[in-house]
Amino acid sequence: MTASSTFDPPELSAALAERALALRLCAECTGRLFGRLGHGWTNPERAEAVARRAGAPGHAWPADCALCHGLFARYGTWVDRALRVAQGYEWHRFTCGSRWDPELLAREEALWAELPTSAAESARSAFNREWGKRLAAATSTEGTSTDPDVVFLADLPVGIVELTVLPVYVRGRYRKLDRTLPQTRWPCRRCRGRGCTHCAGTGRTYPTSVEELVGAPFVRAAEAEGTRFHGMGREDIDARMLGRGRPFVLELIRPKRRQFPLAPVLDELGRTAAGRVEVVGAAWATAADVVAVKEATPEKSYRVGVEGDVPEAKVKEALERAAGRAILQRTPTRVAHRRGDHVRPRRLVRAELVEAANGRFTLELRTESGTYVKEWVEGDGGRTEPNLSSLVGAPLKVTFLDVVEVHDSEVIDGQEQQRV
Ligand SMILES: [Zn+2]
Ligand SMILES: [Zn+2]
Repeated sequence: MTASSTFDPPELSAALAERALALRLCAECTGRLFGRLGHGWTNPERAEAVARRAGAPGHAWPADCALCHGLFARYGTWVDRALRVAQGYEWHRFTCGSRWDPELLAREEALWAELPTSAAESARSAFNREWGKRLAAATSTEGTSTDPDVVFLADLPVGIVELTVLPVYVRGRYRKLDRTLPQTRWPCRRCRGRGCTHCAGTGRTYPTSVEELVGAPFVRAAEAEGTRFHGMGREDIDARMLGRGRPFVLELIRPKRRQFPLAPVLDELGRTAAGRVEVVGAAWATAADVVAVKEATPEKSYRVGVEGDVPEAKVKEALERAAGRAILQRTPTRVAHRRGDHVRPRRLVRAELVEAANGRFTLELRTESGTYVKEWVEGDGGRTEPNLSSLVGAPLKVTFLDVVEVHDSEVIDGQEQQRV
């Protein structure tokens, strides 16, 4: 506003101004009663207009405000508290919130009704905004309502600021070359991770995992407190994950560093996980990528080793009959403890015999998402129908299984492209 103009809205009658002045509020709280009248005025400027209109220009505002008890004079304290609680954390974007005594907020609403005014701004929203402005100025960071790095919550009655540090995300595709690795951390079932005789004090069922091997160098670089690993599905522990790898998003919990070069971290990962896990196509990601990875239901291609006393021609013929057909799979007994017992229709997209010698066969299969491949080959006691064992008329046994491709789609230049 120009220096010559003053805040003087027609809605502010002398009677209303007198009633507002009689409330014995501070200049901030008085001005805020009319916070949505006019634009670009500070609350003290609005309060001055109230005083003028009430015939009391230069009114001395009470120090102990009947509503806020001087809160709006103490932004500096709250900025200091926020800076102290966030010390050691890197952040560029933040959101401010506050927890209030509900009685105070109710008292404020009662004042609005009493005056009456429909142009008031609430103490909470004014405090959050003004506190945020001062915090931004003190730190050259940016207040935001979307996608913050940290959230400050002022607990006004208690007098503390609570800090929420949002995760950082990295996406990529992992290749798993080791047949002893679970995808995610696997706490010991007996002790749930505390350590017991069953797990020799390690707290784990498996000594490490894709999550831990991939996560460790990122945790060090980000100085994070831990990880969550979101894979686009998962393979069995004893299955390798080959081809272009499986998409994943690594979530780094409460990181102290948010922006660091990925290349040295990937170099370290290459050394520490050599021969076990490889990561390709690593890039920064967002929470939305976690959803995309979890919701995807891509087809997958497998290479499967099979043993059985059956002629090659018979296997070949059975695969030809099975390819492109629907199969019905009841939940395998090995996973029934964590998934409900259902019968699911699945489709075998492609089934080929690629090698055969002395009762040992290598198959290549492409299946719909969620197909239990081992069970389709072996039959799972009739829980999968049809199955390859019944089609060849002899028991078959899976000797190894590798995922050779996850056929997910990727958004490239705004267009979804199906990878084949
Ligand atoms: Zn006040
Ligand atoms: Zn244990």
